[in-house]
Formats: sequence, C-alpha cells, structure tokens
Amino acid sequence: PAWKGFGGEKHRHPPMNGWLAVPLVTHDGRNLGLIQLSDKLDGEYTADDEAILTQLAVIASVGIENARLYEALREQDQRKDEFLAMLAHELRNPLAPLRSGMDLLMRPIAQDNTTHIHNMMDRQLKHLACLVDDLMDISRVSRGKIELHRERVAVGSIVEAAVESSQPLLTLKRHRFTYHLPEKPLWIEGDVVRLTQVLCNILNNAAKYTPEGGEVSLSVQCKRDSVVIRVADNGIGISATELSRVFDLFTQVDQDPMRTQCGLGIGLALVQKLVLMHGGQVMAESPGLGEGSVFTVALPLIAPIESPISESPAVPASEEVPPRQVLVVDDNKEAADALGMLLKSLGHEAKVLYLGQDALNCIKDYTPDLIILDISLPDISGYEVAQRLRQHTRLSHTIIAAFSGWSTSTHRNKVRESGFDCDLTKPLDIAKLKQLLEIHHRGDNGAE
Ligand code: ADP
Repeated sequence: PAWKGFGGEKHRHPPMNGWLAVPLVTHDGRNLGLIQLSDKLDGEYTADDEAILTQLAVIASVGIENARLYEALREQDQRKDEFLAMLAHELRNPLAPLRSGMDLLMRPIAQDNTTHIHNMMDRQLKHLACLVDDLMDISRVSRGKIELHRERVAVGSIVEAAVESSQPLLTLKRHRFTYHLPEKPLWIEGDVVRLTQVLCNILNNAAKYTPEGGEVSLSVQCKRDSVVIRVADNGIGISATELSRVFDLFTQVDQDPMRTQCGLGIGLALVQKLVLMHGGQVMAESPGLGEGSVFTVALPLIAPIESPISESPAVPASEEVPPRQVLVVDDNKEAADALGMLLKSLGHEAKVLYLGQDALNCIKDYTPDLIILDISLPDISGYEVAQRLRQHTRLSHTIIAAFSGWSTSTHRNKVRESGFDCDLTKPLDIAKLKQLLEIHHRGDNGAE
C-alpha cells in the first residue's frame, strides 16, 4: 500500500538511490504489470543489470500467462464435464417416454389411447430434435459458421410463426397467452428462420419457467428506430444476481428442479448471439424470484416500402396431391422402411432401397418423381450417387433430395454441386415432405 501513496509514504520505502523498472507483457503485447528494483546504497544500475531484469521479466510474464491459461482451461474443462453430464440427462429425458410409448403401442389398446400416445411421442421427438439443433447451432455460432439469410420482413410474420410453434407448449401448460401486434406492419431486415427461433426460444422459456395456468404475453412496439418485442410472464422469475448470467453458455440459474427440468442452458446464449448478429439487443428483467420475468428483443427498424411484401409467410397450396412414385434410399433399414410406410399411408407409391448401387441399378427401368437419398451410404456416398443419377436424361424431371443429419456449409456446397434439388435434414419434417410431393416436376416451382 505504501506504493500507492507514493509521496506521503516516502519514509516507509526503501531508499531509492537507483531505480530500474521493466514491464511484464503478454505474448501479444498486453500489459501485466511491472518488476522494479531499487538500490539503497549505490544508485546507478548497469546495462548488465538491465539485461538480467529484462530476462527475469520475460520469464515471469510467461509464468503468469501460463498460470492464467491453465486456470481458464481448468474452468472450461469443469464446465464441459458438467455440461456433458447434463446433456446425457437431457437426452435421456425424452427417450424414456418414447420407449414407454413404443412398448404401449405394441400392446392391444383403444384407438383413443393410440392418438394420445402418438401425440406424446410426437412432442418428445420434437423436443429431442430441438436439443440436437440447439447443440449444432451453438457450435456453429461459436465457430462463426452461421450465415444469415437476410431479407426484408415484417415483424408480425415472425411473431406469428414463433407463436405457432410455441403454442403447443403454452397450451400444454394451460397458460393464458395473449399477444398484440401494431396495426401497421413494422419492417426489419433479418433472417426469418433465425429470428423465429429467437422468439420461439424466449416464448418456450416463458412457458417452461411459469407454473401451470400462468400468464404469458407478447407485445410489439416501435421505439425510435427500433422494433421492440417484449415477452412477459408471471412465472418463477430470476434473482437480481442471476439476471446478468442468464445469457451465458451452459448456464442454468440454479438447481431449482423447476429450472433444471428441461434444457441445456444453451437457448439464451444462442438468442443473444443471433440478436447481436442482427445488430439488435436482448435484455432480461425480473423484479425477483417468484415475480415473473420480462425478455425484450430490440431490432433495427427499416423504412416501409410502397408495395409491401405479404405479411404472412408463404403457405403452400393444400389441394389434393396426386399419387407420386418415390424412391427412398437409406442404409438405416428401419428409418427407410418407416419413411416408405409413411409415403404409402399418404397415398403414394414408395420403393425402398438400402444401398447406393441398388439405386443406380433400379433407375435403369424406373422413373420416380422424387428420390430421397441418404448421404452416408456404406457403398457409394450419396453425393456420388446423385451425380451419377443426374447423368440419366430420363431423370431430368425427377426431384432428388439429399437426406442427412449434416447441416454444415461444406455439406450444403457439396449438395449443390452434386446435382441435388434440395436438402432435407433428419428427422424429416412431414410438412416439408408434403410440400415436396406437391411439386410435380423438377423446375415446376421452388424445390429449395
Ligand atoms: P435452458 O435450456 O435451461 O432453458 P436457457 O439458456 O434458455 O437454458 O435459459 C437459461 C436459464 O435462464 C434457464 O435455465 C432458467 O433458469 C433461466 N430462465 C430463462 N427464461 C426464464 C424465464 N422466462 N423465467 C425464469 N427463468 C428463466
């Protein structure tokens, strides 16, 4: 402390006849501190003294930096271990009801119960798919690999899409949900899918962290040059100390069973990163535990245009689809058979094969309307199969869809280069499948 009040505490210092100081710096030039010598007798230091102290400073700096790095790694490692334990737990959660559902369906049961079990399994499967999607997204965001597909869009259509996907959870928890949109459309420039994901995450949290029968509301307002979307709930709330941490990766506020029952602590980290990528801000507020929470997302507003693009997202025409011939190729026999059965139940003809070579042989005398082709086939990769299929002029009207769990940009590029018309992600979304079946021919309309 004597050093702080330098002048006033002079009598407590060693005599300073000579003084030598060398800075401690990190490998990239940041200042860590300094190392000082003073000599009470002699006064002058030599160039040799200076060289020795400089060397000492370098050794000390490396030591300090290494100790800090080691500490950071240790903390990260601990968080990773905790995360893996939580991940295993969270993945197992939906698996348990899926297992029981399967066992139940194998027994003779009434039709009413079957519907109930199907709905339950559907919910659990969606939950599982969401966890995996979140995991993949956060890893892509952290590596800077997410590209935004920006377009001019009315906030109302994003809100409506998010409300539609969160509605089942809000209903399941019997919450009273109200939302309010301004009369005039408010325009922003953003990635519709990503912004819907942001709102959906916040709405799902409001539903999850509010005891049954609660109140959740969403409103949209224009404030100066921003659109402010506000989601409020009267749920379990967040303490003042934890408010600043909710956006940290892998953070779940505390061990309260209501909080840790579902989720990986990724959602809000992802929300914050996506909102920042859109030039916006997200904020959490809560008067305290048990007092509910408010999450606000502010996004930059853009000027309205004269002939606005339709407010709501394009809805495909839902007229009867004539029977299509579909070839499914997937080495996961059960997944392929199930997809074949699903297609038949929708009134289409389905042929199911498990190898790339079989697919190449089969199309010599078969012209399907749609080919759903797995990428990771054991004999020939799906990319190569697609390239070879594309060489057949007879298949020039056939839609070839890539089917895989990959969603990296390398995969997307390869899909494009191999001649695929679109890319389907596992698990297959039935709405997407129906949309594809509605397209008659390749080139008819937007096969993605
Ligand atoms: P999780 O997957 O655990 O839901 P999130 O990143 O979405 O992860 O949220 C982090 C934590 O913030 C949650 O575990 C929860 O404790 C808290 N939280 C998020 N939203 C709310 C809310 N509306 N009310 C109370 N707590 C919330």
